[in-house]
Amino acid sequence: MKKYLQKIMCIIVPVCLLCTGCSRQPTAYKSVDTAMGTIINQTIYISADEETAQEILDEVISCIDDLEKNNLSWRLETSEVYQINESAGSGQEIKMSSLLTNVLDQCKKVYAASNGAFDFTVGSVARLWNIDAWAATPQGNGIGKVVENATQSAATEEGVSEFILPTQEQLAEALTHVGGDKSRVEGAFVNLPEGMQLDLGAVGKGIVLDEVRKLLEQHEEVSGAVISAGGSILTYGSKPDGSNWNVGIVDPFNTSQNLGILSLKGIWCVSTSGDYERYVEVDGVRYHHILDPHTGMPADSGVKSVTILIEGEDTSHYVDGLFSDALSTACFVLGVEEGLKLAEEFGAEALFVDNQGGIFMTEGMEQYFHLSN
Ligand code: AMP
Ligand code: MG
Repeated sequence: MKKYLQKIMCIIVPVCLLCTGCSRQPTAYKSVDTAMGTIINQTIYISADEETAQEILDEVISCIDDLEKNNLSWRLETSEVYQINESAGSGQEIKMSSLLTNVLDQCKKVYAASNGAFDFTVGSVARLWNIDAWAATPQGNGIGKVVENATQSAATEEGVSEFILPTQEQLAEALTHVGGDKSRVEGAFVNLPEGMQLDLGAVGKGIVLDEVRKLLEQHEEVSGAVISAGGSILTYGSKPDGSNWNVGIVDPFNTSQNLGILSLKGIWCVSTSGDYERYVEVDGVRYHHILDPHTGMPADSGVKSVTILIEGEDTSHYVDGLFSDALSTACFVLGVEEGLKLAEEFGAEALFVDNQGGIFMTEGMEQYFHLSN
């Protein structure tokens, strides 16, 4: 019997080897698109013909468009967040999709752990600053792309107009509607109080990475990928030559160059929050898009940029992108000392650049980060 089995194996193994030899080698397919108001860069290693490869690249973009349209946008009437915001104060309980239920569940954790430095209910204040009308710097993927200066004016529907700063009275009023602990999100149901507005801008790109990762896992032709959505990047699988993924971290003092490189193997989520991504300048003062939910003003914690790194090893929970994105925002608001503690609490690696150009990082980050010369 043993001999008989050995004989069969002798036939099966060479046939299998022959088949693998015949199978298509992975080829790198690339695309640059705009979705969710940001630049999406894809490099995917695919063992398939060009048509199938293009279908996969298109699927990724559709997945992101759907997330914005159906779930996350505060602007599009079709989205859950829009409808929840519209119903604020009505007393009506809204049932959420399982995706949004999970998102808000995770957001509540980061809100609580960061003492409200990350607050998913910051919408009323963010609307006053009109952040989405500011020109975003085309930083795109955080991989050392050339960044031009953002315009000093805010673009409106009528064209470009002078930006008007919100008054302290307006901010004080808007702040009375901010507070994740008052959001009345209970499981799959939400019933926002009057005036409260959800804003998932600080986690949207991270959620995209989690959903794209699920999609890539459904395609066995995909052996590796780097997907970037604004300041958030997913690395997935491996390159055909087995070398590491290199993810650049933008120098916040000179955004056309990299401060350094993260050298990574396998699945990782990297998110950066920086004061250079979106801002307006009024009378020589820069106002950026990361707000301190306790003051309503752009956070002033002495930090210029924060990068969070989380390994996507756990395949049962697709929240690494969400957490890396939420934590980069939270850590920016908290500053170096508190931020380092928060990152460690979530098992994340963090790298801070402060206003003096000082670099601070978690111990674990040191093995991945390589400073540019
Ligand atoms: P990010 O670039 O990921 O740090 O996210 C910034 C975006 O999230 C802003 O454009 C706002 O829409 C929103 N936001 C700003 N400050 C906060 C905050 N402290 N907590 C949660 N969301 C915020
Ligand atoms: Mg963020």
